[in-house]
Amino acid sequence: MSCSPDELKKRSDALGAKWQTFLASPATDPLLEFAVSLSSFTEFLHGKGLSGLHQISRSLEQQALSLFDTGTNPLIPQATLDELNLRVQELGARVTDFIDGNSRPIIERRAHHGSTAGFDVAPHHRVWLIGGHAAPWQELVLQLGYFNIDAEFHKVQELPGQADEPALVLLDAEDLTVQQASAQIQMLRARFSASTLMVHKLPADFDSLKSALAAGCDVCFDQTTAPSVILAKIIELCGGREEAPYRALVVEDSPTASKSIQRTLALCGIETHAISKPHDVLACLTRFQPDLILMDMFMPGCTGVEATRVIRQHPEFLSTPIVYLSGDTNIPLQIEALRLGGDHFLTKPFNPVVLNAIVQSKIARYRALRRAMQHDSLTGLFNHSTSKEKLAAAIQQAEAEQQPLAAAMIDIDHFKKINDSYGHPMGDQVIRSLAWFLKQRLRKSDLIGRYGGEEFLLVLPAADADLAMEALDRIRRDFSLIKHPFNETWFNATFSAGLAQLQSETSAETLIKQADEALYAAKRAGRNRVVRWE
Ligand code: GH3
Ligand code: MG
Ligand code: MG
Ligand code: MG
Repeated sequence: MSCSPDELKKRSDALGAKWQTFLASPATDPLLEFAVSLSSFTEFLHGKGLSGLHQISRSLEQQALSLFDTGTNPLIPQATLDELNLRVQELGARVTDFIDGNSRPIIERRAHHGSTAGFDVAPHHRVWLIGGHAAPWQELVLQLGYFNIDAEFHKVQELPGQADEPALVLLDAEDLTVQQASAQIQMLRARFSASTLMVHKLPADFDSLKSALAAGCDVCFDQTTAPSVILAKIIELCGGREEAPYRALVVEDSPTASKSIQRTLALCGIETHAISKPHDVLACLTRFQPDLILMDMFMPGCTGVEATRVIRQHPEFLSTPIVYLSGDTNIPLQIEALRLGGDHFLTKPFNPVVLNAIVQSKIARYRALRRAMQHDSLTGLFNHSTSKEKLAAAIQQAEAEQQPLAAAMIDIDHFKKINDSYGHPMGDQVIRSLAWFLKQRLRKSDLIGRYGGEEFLLVLPAADADLAMEALDRIRRDFSLIKHPFNETWFNATFSAGLAQLQSETSAETLIKQADEALYAAKRAGRNRVVRWE
């Protein structure tokens, strides 16, 4: 949600300029440039969570892409051009409206993220709950408050006139017919360009979902959805960490081809690094850590397939997607190349829209796979082995930069009792709450792992023991205040933590052992406290 109005304006203007260039000379190349720019803008809006603008941009993109179906030398009917022109103008106007109405809060949100003040900068998100009655929302409002999400209830007929856009709008469809729900969704969608739009208590049948989505809703829940699922989704959407830019390595002996590929990928914000000698590929993979390799087929002394086979000998690069680029349309060659470890084959000259679409979708799949391998499914945090690897890497970096580093081990107190008294699913919910809470309260640079059942490993770079102690103790205190709802009542949970600071020549194992010893000291001393390793 941290989008600067300047950046949004700049990108929107750039798109407008590409469209004007195309209108001035409606040929294939300017159309391609516009389509790539539009596709990149759509991705950008999606990445920033500007949901309403994203929907408009995506449907415009579909319409623009259909122009390519008319062949390589399109003679586009004037009516089609006029219609498209109208929609480009409409998108530009919606962006301008949004910037005019919201420049203040988005700047503030960015300032929050950019602050170096440290742990106490927890950005607040705003959520609007819309429906007939306030009463059913009370519990949700309270729960969201623990996670720095300010929820306000509004009656649908009495929405405040001038107000900044909330991050998320949740509509209660309980007493509405499908037609009424769709009409209200359309009204909210037209009013909120950026907010994620969620609908709750919709009938669960296919047609209701279809019409709610068509009306512009982003997420639908039906009557059977548990409140904890809604809470989880809101926290996930508000707390979404920004993804690092996609990275592609280009292996290509022709400097002209290489530049052209890099320029095309840059249009979609993909970071690239290019090498001309296949022999350098392994060293470069280790250094640059790309999400995908674009491999030329024919290079002096080594073919793309030979280079791919060498890369696939290394387990850490076994799943990195490799896309071949070749001027050769020979089908048996393409099949052989795919058999020997490649993922896709594109022939030169490539269509920039297609190249970007393929590269982006391959990277998205690769990242999702890697995420599933490195993260714990209950909490979304790093899993046991990945947390240890991340700690080792953070230690190396701290030593190289001569920066302090603290590590902490956290364990929920008397967790067996929580399971016994309230049931295992409720125990899971407490684990998830703590995970969300840590994500909300720690800095972007901190690493959080689920080390065991109800144990978490925290890695706090650039934090000395005093700072880490202070931050952790505040988190401990605030977590202990959360009321976890259970049937008609609620209960509290606490955790204990052990903290250790990096000394010279300390390995990851030693640091974990020290934090663990401190954790046990905290348990022995009575729990619900943070103890520093001495
Ligand atoms: P202490 O204060 O000493 O930590 O007491 P404790 O009861 O929390 O003791 P311990 O840490 O040894 O117990 C952990 C319990 O957590 C044991 C196990 O049944 C339960 N547990 C482990 N993983 C999960 C999980 O994923 N979900 C749930 N609900 N329970 C889990
Ligand atoms: Mg070549
Ligand atoms: Mg334990
Ligand atoms: Mg425990």
